[in-house]
Amino acid sequence: MRAMVLRGPNTPFEKATVPDPTPGPGEAVARVITCGAGLTIQHVKAGRRKTSFPRIIGHEITAEIVALGAGVSGLKLGDPVTAHFYLFCGHCRYCLSQLEPLCLNGRGNVGIECDGGYAEYIKLPAHVFIKLPEALDYKAHPAEAGVITDALATPLKVLRRADVKPGETVAVIGAGGGLGIHQVMMAKWAHARVIAVDTAAAKFDACRKAGADEVVDASRGGVVEALKELTHGLGVDVVVDYVSTTATLEAGAQALGPRGRLVILGGAAQPFQAPALPMLTKEQSILGSRYVSRAEIMQALDLAARREVWPLVTVLRPLEEAEAVHELVERGAVTGRAALRVA
Ligand SMILES: [Zn+2]
Repeated sequence: MRAMVLRGPNTPFEKATVPDPTPGPGEAVARVITCGAGLTIQHVKAGRRKTSFPRIIGHEITAEIVALGAGVSGLKLGDPVTAHFYLFCGHCRYCLSQLEPLCLNGRGNVGIECDGGYAEYIKLPAHVFIKLPEALDYKAHPAEAGVITDALATPLKVLRRADVKPGETVAVIGAGGGLGIHQVMMAKWAHARVIAVDTAAAKFDACRKAGADEVVDASRGGVVEALKELTHGLGVDVVVDYVSTTATLEAGAQALGPRGRLVILGGAAQPFQAPALPMLTKEQSILGSRYVSRAEIMQALDLAARREVWPLVTVLRPLEEAEAVHELVERGAVTGRAALRVA
């Protein structure tokens, strides 16, 4: 099969022909139509996230099942699928509680600890595949269908993690990023008042279009003051930090109002200090949020199938142009999400 292979950290993709995967017991193989190209896998390509090489990266797939291993149930040939990002076991106490990213027997991530979607075919444990809902027209919109697993599902999970209620004010730090802009969109869908915070003024129009009521330019500092001013001195109800540097996390904590919640996701994940007294007197919370459950992906797919929300894919190029697309991702030059067309 055709594949774009990485031979080492921080090296260009190599266009290669590699053996077609065959499914072992409990596994399935799918023919890839599109695969999302996001920052998570750019970290792998750039060597910031360790893995073994050679490696085929990519996990935000839209694909069709073409082969089933022994003992697989729940999937049949021709089923349209996407995939969960985690190689979870499916039977530990966390998997059974629909908290698959916390799996006690996890074997890593799709496209990092095993080969992923930058190839004609992808082989995974069958339970890691997720069937697309019939109402989602994946043939007309394969790139959108594939990125929903992260772009819409992650913000949906954050809304629940922070228990965002209609009318609350949600500030999104890194709102211009691939996940941030979808967090803006999803917070608006949840009837929150949304404040987009970013340093890239070029992304502000897109943030407004996605539903931001206000935009704060963080490039000049003064984020805490701006958020306080926009909330009549009270502070915001929820800060979602997709950047997670020391500076953004400390600003986020200081900008919280009574019962405020700070949600920490990926990004730089740097250490930070939060003031204990206001956390106590204002009953504030700090929450970590790690990817999504299988169920949350299915719910996000259903939301998109009903067109309540729709992911923003602005770059779709052939698989062979992976290198150029990843350069855009590395530079933060993609509005919304990028994807590669495989078939
Ligand atoms: Zn498990």
